[in-house]
Amino acid sequence: MPVGTQGTVKGIRFETLENELDARIILGNTYHLWLRPGIEILRAVGGLHKFNSWNRSILTDSGGFQVFSLTDLRKLKEEGVEFRSHIDGSLRFLSPEISMEIQAALGSEIVMVLDECPPGQADFDFARKSLEMTARWAARSKQKFNELQEAGMDTGFVSECGMRNAECGMENETNPQSAIRNPQLNGRQALFGIIQGASHLPLRRESLEKTVEIGFDGYAIGGLSVGEEKSVMYDTIEFLAPQMPEDAPRYLMGVGTPEDLVEAVFRGVDMFDCVIPTRNGRTGTAFTSRGKINIRNAKHATDSAPLDESCDCAVCRRHSRAFLRHLYQTGEMLAAILITHHNLAFFLDTMKRVRHSIRLGIFGEFRQDFLRQIKESE
Ligand SMILES: [Zn+2]
Repeated sequence: MPVGTQGTVKGIRFETLENELDARIILGNTYHLWLRPGIEILRAVGGLHKFNSWNRSILTDSGGFQVFSLTDLRKLKEEGVEFRSHIDGSLRFLSPEISMEIQAALGSEIVMVLDECPPGQADFDFARKSLEMTARWAARSKQKFNELQEAGMDTGFVSECGMRNAECGMENETNPQSAIRNPQLNGRQALFGIIQGASHLPLRRESLEKTVEIGFDGYAIGGLSVGEEKSVMYDTIEFLAPQMPEDAPRYLMGVGTPEDLVEAVFRGVDMFDCVIPTRNGRTGTAFTSRGKINIRNAKHATDSAPLDESCDCAVCRRHSRAFLRHLYQTGEMLAAILITHHNLAFFLDTMKRVRHSIRLGIFGEFRQDFLRQIKESE
């Protein structure tokens, strides 16, 4: 999932995401959208889909991760968490119920429960208290979510013909094309639970059991990629994933590099989100099948090669490293746009190849080749 923090994936148009990159789902950040434009405006315009005209799926996070990143600005209680907005310093309060209401108003396809996000190095007792709170918040999230769904929480996005508004338009239910194009957008929401427990495997297991007991449409692994060693992340996934329900999606939150995606799939994960392809694109770092490239590096000044010889994206088909470096060095906005485009193309294509190799039963070989090629080049 490309990350669309403010309802937009930075540096790339939706047409490109749809037509060239074929991104099926993007992530929106509840915290940011709640503060700006604010939930009243989002309700008034009929939810996030209507507001930003993205007609494919959206997953929204709970807002918790951002709030818990504001360590100086927050006060944690059983009821929820009080914090000061990073924008205007106003006092705000986030609870499981409030997060569910905001995400219902946003109208995302996948809603995340509000969890407490302890620091990566949290000790056992701290992590246990935290996961118990997370389990209580998960149950409250689910109850509120169900109430909102039963109340027919209307995001305004489902039109009279039963399709999302942008899909309805000229077409209607008698035109099967409109139903085929977006069968997943039916106006209903799914709720995912989150497994916490830091790097303590017994706590991870306990958190998994508590979360599965409540029962969700999908399960996320939270609290990884927050500064711990890579081996800790891989060990935690390796321990958890095989115990997670087989018939529900497994989502690793906030991860990661191309190598991380392949390694996590190998251990049983299905879904990811990360700002890496877009954020690094803006700072001149390109991810390729032969490792990372820093476009600022002088060695690219006369390099007529594309970012990645084996990438078929529009940027690699047209532009040289030399030109991209020139754009970056002169502060042209197109530098960030083009490198972001390539990075998203590379990440999404990597996942496409992962799926393809799984279907062919050759994912093990794919993984070895993919990792070897990156390692040899870096
Ligand atoms: Zn490319």
